[in-house]
Amino acid sequence: MSLQFWTTDVNDNGEKIIEVHDLSAGYGGDPAVVNARFEIYAGDRIAIIGPNGAGKSTLIKTIVGILQPQSGHVRIAGGNPQRIGYLPQHQRVNWDFPVTVRDVVMMGRARHIGWMRWPGREQYRAVDAALERVDLLAVADRQVGELSGGQQRRVFIARALAQEADILLLDEPFSGVDSTAQANVMDVLEALNADGITIVLCTHDLNLAFSRFKRVIALRGQIIACGTPQEVYTPAVLSKVYGGRLATWDDGRQVMMFVDDHAHHDDV
Ligand code: ADP
Repeated sequence: MSLQFWTTDVNDNGEKIIEVHDLSAGYGGDPAVVNARFEIYAGDRIAIIGPNGAGKSTLIKTIVGILQPQSGHVRIAGGNPQRIGYLPQHQRVNWDFPVTVRDVVMMGRARHIGWMRWPGREQYRAVDAALERVDLLAVADRQVGELSGGQQRRVFIARALAQEADILLLDEPFSGVDSTAQANVMDVLEALNADGITIVLCTHDLNLAFSRFKRVIALRGQIIACGTPQEVYTPAVLSKVYGGRLATWDDGRQVMMFVDDHAHHDDV
């Protein structure tokens, strides 16, 4: 059993809810992620950055339990896997499936409904409350395939909330959405984070990770750095992660920026 659980563990950073310990993970051959070690605390808002193929997706899938560690372990506090809500990459979802927004979010209630039962009024109330939190109640009866990309991301966030997840792991949620939709989804995530929900998100958008996250994990097969954006965004770390061209600008805070020469071409 690779996913392990413990009760509560509180230190100076708060309540530790996920522990990744000497984790190596991948797809049978050489591990895509090697010896990763970090902790996540309740209320964290963490971005995992790194170039294409750095292992971001692999790391998230292993935390969620879709992939088994090759060595090391992931531990989740509280003994309840339902507390984790996972948003897969957008292109991995079949958006043509004829199902309404409310139906998708109701899937998050499966555990509460029980086997071969129909959802009752209480379940519909929970689903509507989740839709309200992501500002989608008005489109609850629409087919999910008809929504915009940003709205579809929010449907999946609502499904995780309906599941009563308090830790959200999102795999590249912003690939293929425009900047307005990205800002809307990010606003929803920040509001949820302010309510105590822990957010872990992987992205190749260095600006976003710098400006809207409390902590950043820089990954390239192994963890190169983990800390506040200011701690992680140094020339030494970024050149190790991207090995690419350095562009700098000064917006008053001496922000540096690496241009990833291998920027995602497959995201749109
Ligand atoms: P990222 O999310 O940072 O782009 P991934 O975790 O998707 O990186 O990929 C890490 C490495 O694992 C890459 O070398 C990739 O080719 C490989 N990989 C990803 N998915 C699979 C898979 N299903 N089977 C085999 N190798 C894979």
